[in-house]
Amino acid sequence: MTDSVSRPVVGVLALQGGVVEHERVLDELGVAHRKVRLPQHLDGLAALILPGGESTTMSKLMRFNGLLEPLSDALRSGLPAYGTCAGMILLASTVLDTREDAVQLGALDATVRRNAFGRQVDSFETDLDFAGIDDPVPATFIRAPWVETVGEGVDILATVPEGSAEGAIVAVRDGAVMATSFHPEVDGDVRVHRLFLRECAGLDVG
Ligand code: GLN
Repeated sequence: MTDSVSRPVVGVLALQGGVVEHERVLDELGVAHRKVRLPQHLDGLAALILPGGESTTMSKLMRFNGLLEPLSDALRSGLPAYGTCAGMILLASTVLDTREDAVQLGALDATVRRNAFGRQVDSFETDLDFAGIDDPVPATFIRAPWVETVGEGVDILATVPEGSAEGAIVAVRDGAVMATSFHPEVDGDVRVHRLFLRECAGLDVG
């Protein structure tokens, strides 16, 4: 078997939103990737990344493309997944302040509040202590959600250190599923993706 056949492939949900930023991070880490738009694109994936964007639009497109059920099934069967921002919303079991017709994948045992930071601070940057990463992680929040409550098996990886949202939960891990309210992919920092690929997906990334 040649190397290209045996290499693990990571999917990037490519219905809408910041797909290319995640592809760049995966390129930098030397990980093969594929855009996921239709059910057949899920075949054989080692992991899936759900990007930021607009969760209600992605939810609609997931249903329109027939992805909702196959993707929920794949996640239930253990497909490792990492969601940033809107991706976190899509993965959650419960979402507050979303549209009534929005659907979630229910792979992350947490209640997530959409657009949680309010108007004054709807976009901001800060440095976060992140469990499993040595030095602070620069974090860009863009009309971001936060995690309001977590289920028993969920680890909290980062919280907002100061300001009006001090203590808000912004990074979590539930088994093979990880989610951040912010976008490490826009800061050119590959450490959160590397952590996910190593710890949640068991991939040997540099
Ligand atoms: N506010 C967006 C939503 O509700 C998420 C924003 C983002 O992904 N940067 O889906």
